[in-house]
Amino acid sequence: MIARIQQTVKGALLVDLVGALGLTLREFFRPKHTVNYPFERNPQSPRFRGEHALRRYANGEERCIACKLCEAICPAQAITIESEPRADGSRRTTRYDIDMVKCIYCGLCQEACPVDAIVEGPNSEFATETREELYFDKDRLLDNGDRWERQIAKNLELDAPYR
Ligand code: SF4
Ligand code: SF4
Repeated sequence: MIARIQQTVKGALLVDLVGALGLTLREFFRPKHTVNYPFERNPQSPRFRGEHALRRYANGEERCIACKLCEAICPAQAITIESEPRADGSRRTTRYDIDMVKCIYCGLCQEACPVDAIVEGPNSEFATETREELYFDKDRLLDNGDRWERQIAKNLELDAPYR
């Protein structure tokens, strides 16, 4: 009976409503926990595993030597490589595809690569409207490498002491 009277008085005095409004007012002036993306961004770890890229050496030569270790280790079987020897005897890929729909971003391809050719770069903004656009071929991957090389090299350098 007493509890019911207390409840009625609280309801009549709008105690809960006033409390909630007070809470809202207090949080309004507190520092925000959200970021105003895409104008603000959280810091990104050097180990961030984003969009894949194939890297080149400084002289423009592809790093990839078509050893196929990345293809063999990929648990999602997302990588397809074909290769043939060049006139100078070096072995290079003629096809390097990654089906990004299958990819689980485990990073094993990057770990397996002996020449730091395939990497998961810092870019996470590559959403598409169709599945087909997520079927990356060699040209797309090399373009990614060219575009993000500076950031990729810096991230690899920062992470090197821990590898
Ligand atoms: S990140 Fe993992 S799943 Fe994706 S291509 Fe590399 S090895 Fe395959
Ligand atoms: S990307 Fe690296 S692991 Fe994959 S085939 Fe090329 S050299 Fe080998």
